[in-house]
Amino acid sequence: MPNILLLGGTMEASAMARRLADRGLAATLSYMGRVERPKPQPIPVRIGGFSGVPGLVQYLTDHRITHVIDATHPFAAQMSSNAVAACTQTQTPLIALTRPAWQPGPGDDWQRVPDMAAAVAALAGPPRRIMLAIGRMHLAEFAAQPQHHYLLRLVDAPTETPPLPHHTVTIDRGPFSAEADQALMRAHAIDLIVAKNAGGTGSVSKLQAARALNLPVLMIDRPHLPQRHETHDPEEVLRFVSP
Ligand code: NAP
Repeated sequence: MPNILLLGGTMEASAMARRLADRGLAATLSYMGRVERPKPQPIPVRIGGFSGVPGLVQYLTDHRITHVIDATHPFAAQMSSNAVAACTQTQTPLIALTRPAWQPGPGDDWQRVPDMAAAVAALAGPPRRIMLAIGRMHLAEFAAQPQHHYLLRLVDAPTETPPLPHHTVTIDRGPFSAEADQALMRAHAIDLIVAKNAGGTGSVSKLQAARALNLPVLMIDRPHLPQRHETHDPEEVLRFVSP
């Protein structure tokens, strides 16, 4: 019988946990645990890192894991690379459940950059009012462009003051609506949105709002990952892990 490790931390992973539970498949959902108050889940949960590739190899072996589903965020490059390496070493079948990247459409005004450092560099110039919708981990890098006012949307209240001289924090974990995001952007007189190309529906509202308000978006492309079996289709994942 399969014994699945589901690497989570996304809406899609939580939905996958539900599907596995409904099928009666044995599975454990793993979280980094960076976010407070994780949602209740229909399958057992383990929280915390594995201590790199060796730790993950040990975990797969100790728990007799038969399949790994990587449903982490497309920007969780470390975890996804570690999963490829550990599954190769242990010959554990691995499938990645990802969401298609967003594409610009009519009415969108995107400038694309390859990574966070390029996004910071692209912000050189006179002060602007920027919505920085990138999570909390990379905020410090934007201290290199201290002239702007940054609106930070975070899941949890920051424990340390972000090192940005002019900023406002709004706490919300989403999913968000385009109407509410438009109102937020208007209320803060936002003139540029910085976003990661996460894809999916959970946070697309900021792009819909930007389009409606004719605001430009600085879009950070996804990190490159090692070759792996990848699908956008949860049904394909179920077929992959089913006995
Ligand atoms: P990362 O840079 O790829 O991973 C950093 C380290 O966190 C990994 O080396 C691993 O620690 C641990 N880790 C990450 N995901 C884990 C998981 N599902 N279970 C156990 N340990 C995990 O990842 P990240 O960007 O920090 O993201 C952490 C989690 O937040 C992921 O599950 C991701 O899906 C979720 N998330 C990320 C973003 C984002 O923008 N990056 C947005 C929303 C949600 P060890 O090396 O000790 O094993």
